[in-house]
Amino acid sequence: MKIIFLLAAAVLIWWIVRTLRGSSVSAPKPGIKNVVSCEYCDLHIPEDEAFKQNGHSYCCREHAQKDSN
Ligand SMILES: [Zn+2]
Repeated sequence: MKIIFLLAAAVLIWWIVRTLRGSSVSAPKPGIKNVVSCEYCDLHIPEDEAFKQNGHSYCCREHAQKDSN
């Protein structure tokens, strides 16, 4: 019966090591996109997808127009 316990322990250790390595690989990468918030509805969007007007950032063209009115 001892061999079964050793095998179970080995599998458990392998699983823990695999889980720890997996979590370190999926950690946030440096150089992640800069996020800005819409001046009108406060929605958070990546800066390169934001609609820019008069130095302000908006989630869409409609909100940029509504805020300027
Ligand atoms: Zn918006």
